[in-house]
Amino acid sequence: EYFARIDAENSSVNAYLSVSRERAMEQTSRIDAMAAAGTALPALAGVPIAIKDVLVVQGSPATAGSKILEGYQPPYDATVVQRLDAAGAVLLGKLNCDEFAMGSSNENSAYGPVRNPRALDRVPGGSSGGSAAAVAAGMALATLGTDTGGSIRQPASFCGVVGVLPTYGRVSRYGLIAFASSLDRIGPITSTVRDAATILEVIAGYDPLDATSSLEPVPDYAAELEKPITGLKIGVPAEYFAEGLDPEVRAAVEGAIDKLRSEGAIVCPISLPHTRYAVPAYYVLATAEASSNLARFDGVRYGYRSPDSTTLTAMYRKSRDCGFGAEVKRRILLGTYALSAGYYDAYYKKAQQVRTLLTQDFLKAFNEVDAIVTPVAPTPAFKIGEKADDPMAMYLADIYTVTASLAGICGISVPCGVSSEGLPIGAQILGKHFDEGMVFRMGNALE
Ligand code: GLN
Repeated sequence: EYFARIDAENSSVNAYLSVSRERAMEQTSRIDAMAAAGTALPALAGVPIAIKDVLVVQGSPATAGSKILEGYQPPYDATVVQRLDAAGAVLLGKLNCDEFAMGSSNENSAYGPVRNPRALDRVPGGSSGGSAAAVAAGMALATLGTDTGGSIRQPASFCGVVGVLPTYGRVSRYGLIAFASSLDRIGPITSTVRDAATILEVIAGYDPLDATSSLEPVPDYAAELEKPITGLKIGVPAEYFAEGLDPEVRAAVEGAIDKLRSEGAIVCPISLPHTRYAVPAYYVLATAEASSNLARFDGVRYGYRSPDSTTLTAMYRKSRDCGFGAEVKRRILLGTYALSAGYYDAYYKKAQQVRTLLTQDFLKAFNEVDAIVTPVAPTPAFKIGEKADDPMAMYLADIYTVTASLAGICGISVPCGVSSEGLPIGAQILGKHFDEGMVFRMGNALE
């Protein structure tokens, strides 16, 4: 059924880059055999799930949305893929995304933009645009995305679905093609908060193959989300409701806050004073880490190699010149500059210090409140092409999401309304480190 739906819808949405029918059918037969034998079925038995194409699946192409990885077939499964597989999930295929997860509109993919299934002339958000669009169009029951500076939460908001940013260290990054390693996270995109909780429970937990993965035990999230929110405190940070916020987004998020209040939560005005430094700090740190991570794509070890070079240096140069798109090159240049001798202290080190201040803002706030509610993005989904020539405008629109990324805390984007043009609007709920249970509880109350 899902493959039929992909055949029918994908030509207009462009969410899938490849499908894995054989692997899906094998898994389905395995589950059928277990059911026939009366064996207890695992948590996600038969659940059709698709994966953002920055995660590796053995034997499936992994492009990361880039021409430089065209034809690359990874020899192993990412830990999250292994865990989904062990839980009985059926992997449908790999999903389109911005090149190396760099972008907010999915217009930076070398394989064409994804269209928003709720309005085909609009972007689905990015960089996990394919992951959000696939769920919104019914081409997968759930998907995995990655979020470095908003790339799960913002596309979920633009497509009217649920997206989770787990705490840094909650989910293993083994098998994730790295963008900015101190910020990259993997999380579910689903139609409901309950589905997201069920999937996070499967993919979360310690993994010896990722040195930053946490030993913190994984709670029963599905049980957590049932708990009432009476008496819990939600913080509303003034800085997130200031200039630049679309009035319809503001109204929808205020409606969400009212709903939580009517469910028994206590609303507290708070301040996160360093918010305005988050976008500049994020774009220094993310590009610095990217410039280092992307050095491995040298035309030798993975993917594309320029065929017509006569020296080694020319081969490196031409492979990278032809293989990388414009946004990726911009970021390698910015990041290399920020890390270079003479500029390191002024940019990279300063941005790290700002990162600490932003984290302290959140830690102080969480001494007073249980969760924080904000918009996800300043506007609903914009038109394809509308911001394509203005990278600065695109970066500035990440203002409400990059803060939690820098602080390492968890969050969720839950649909909370539609604009007068019928475009979905999401509310962001943020929780302290490893407090995903609280975030699910609030999200469930909002749904
Ligand atoms: N839009 C942000 C960027 O372009 C976030 C991307 C992401 O979270 N992967 O860097």
